[in-house]
Amino acid sequence: MSLPKEYRKFLYSKTKEDSVKKFLKNSSHIHTVCEEAKCPNRGLCFSKKTATFLIMGDICTRNCSFCAIKKGKPLPLDHSEIDEIYNAIEKLKLDYVVLTSVTRDDLSDGGASYFNIVLQRIKKSYPEIKTEILVPDFKQNLENLKNIDFSYVDVFNHNLETVRELYHDVRSKASYDFSLNMLKEVKRLDKITKSGIMVGLGEKDEQLVKLFKDLKSVSVDILTIGQYISPSPRHHKVVKYYSQEEFNRLKKIAEGIGIERVVSGIFVRSSFEAYETFKGLK
Ligand code: SF4
Repeated sequence: MSLPKEYRKFLYSKTKEDSVKKFLKNSSHIHTVCEEAKCPNRGLCFSKKTATFLIMGDICTRNCSFCAIKKGKPLPLDHSEIDEIYNAIEKLKLDYVVLTSVTRDDLSDGGASYFNIVLQRIKKSYPEIKTEILVPDFKQNLENLKNIDFSYVDVFNHNLETVRELYHDVRSKASYDFSLNMLKEVKRLDKITKSGIMVGLGEKDEQLVKLFKDLKSVSVDILTIGQYISPSPRHHKVVKYYSQEEFNRLKKIAEGIGIERVVSGIFVRSSFEAYETFKGLK
């Protein structure tokens, strides 16, 4: 299936050699999901001084069929990345920091306590900075959430990624129900919660509506909806390219179901315009 015209101009626009890109290039221990997952928005986000830091290395223990991130046996945790993220925040004068990670099923709590160390370091030095954590499912054990001090977290983000019916094909080691429960558990702490999906993997409209209702049932505040674009022929194929009109329609449906903020568009990704969306919440 060839790429529709409206996609090409964006995907092939050169990312400007701005301060974020330069800084990241010179930082050996820092990974960003922007670069690792080849995000089409990085030019735009970098120019707005936002980046999503990928902590705990760039090798994942899972094997989601849509994801470009390296799979395999992760390396030991490299605590020097914390200093580099700290320096990046200082150098780039970031207002809003998104931390994400690969899935680390090799760690006892899936990495929850490591998220806490990084958050603590940021918030102790920069209490005014807003933090969003886009987390894996921490070995599908809600107890592991207790290793995170949520007073350091402004937005808790955990992606459903796709509809329940496609989990087997798309993220076979994850659990749709556990992911919903994790969002519900954090909402109990009165935190802003967020989730994201990609479309174009073969989902049906009624399955999307059910997903929106499931997210509403656990009181999610923010939802991002973006187009799946296959990183390579080895990855899950694209079943459909949605037009921007179709993304607008999905946004209307999800907001009609009661999700407060829905960011929906061809190139929307989990932390795309994260700060603006956060500021836009009532
Ligand atoms: S768990 Fe996340 S990083 Fe790992 S393969 Fe799946 S999407 Fe990629």
